[in-house]
Amino acid sequence: MEGAGAGAGAEPQRERERDREREQQQQQFTYQVFPERLPDAKRSFLATSFFTHNQKCQLMLLKALDRSPYVKLLLDAMRRSGCTVYRERHFSCEDCNGNVSGGFDAATSQIVLCQNNIHNQSHMNRVVTHELIHAFDHCRAHVDWFTNVKHLACSEVRAANLSGDCSLSNEMIRFNFGLKQHHQTCVRDRALRSILAVRKVSKEYAQKAVDEVFESCFNDHEPFGRIPHSKSDAKHAHRDFQNRDRYYSNV
Ligand SMILES: [Zn+2]
Repeated sequence: MEGAGAGAGAEPQRERERDREREQQQQQFTYQVFPERLPDAKRSFLATSFFTHNQKCQLMLLKALDRSPYVKLLLDAMRRSGCTVYRERHFSCEDCNGNVSGGFDAATSQIVLCQNNIHNQSHMNRVVTHELIHAFDHCRAHVDWFTNVKHLACSEVRAANLSGDCSLSNEMIRFNFGLKQHHQTCVRDRALRSILAVRKVSKEYAQKAVDEVFESCFNDHEPFGRIPHSKSDAKHAHRDFQNRDRYYSNV
């Protein structure tokens, strides 16, 4: 149908259109090589914000895997336990509901990172560490995530205790000043909240599960060998772990 019924006056108009196209092509010449680099206005607002969230999330994940001593130790430990973690296969940056930061999907052994709720590198490091502790527990033991709430409670206690979720600086950011005892209170509190976020159980039921496992799971510091309260603690733990690894591989 193109051009059908168009009168003599159509020619100059087409000419003008062609000129305009040429002009636009010249303006966009540098962008055409990388279509994704078109000016932001060309994309819808939603597409733009999704793109940046997802890309930011991927970049922060890369940095966490590369630099966080907590994460590096856990990756080594997973490898040694025969559960090597691959970035492409085992991590997924997604939008999540509410203010959830991440999750471990035991069915697929995948760690979900909530790209809409993780806004800085230190938060990313903590979420990756927290979820890798669940993955580590999943790898080393036959965790019954869905029918035994005590198993879930134990892993949540360990994740809150060892990931830095309750380290003093994080607590201070939340304006909860306190001393050593506070660490335990924080761990209990966060484990309880994590259980309630993923299971439809009463607060009392979840509380009872946390109480029952707390003593033994709070004192289980594998694979760190201690509670890493800071980055330098985690670095030392990683070095010790590597030495332990070397020792075992020699015997
Ligand atoms: Zn958790």
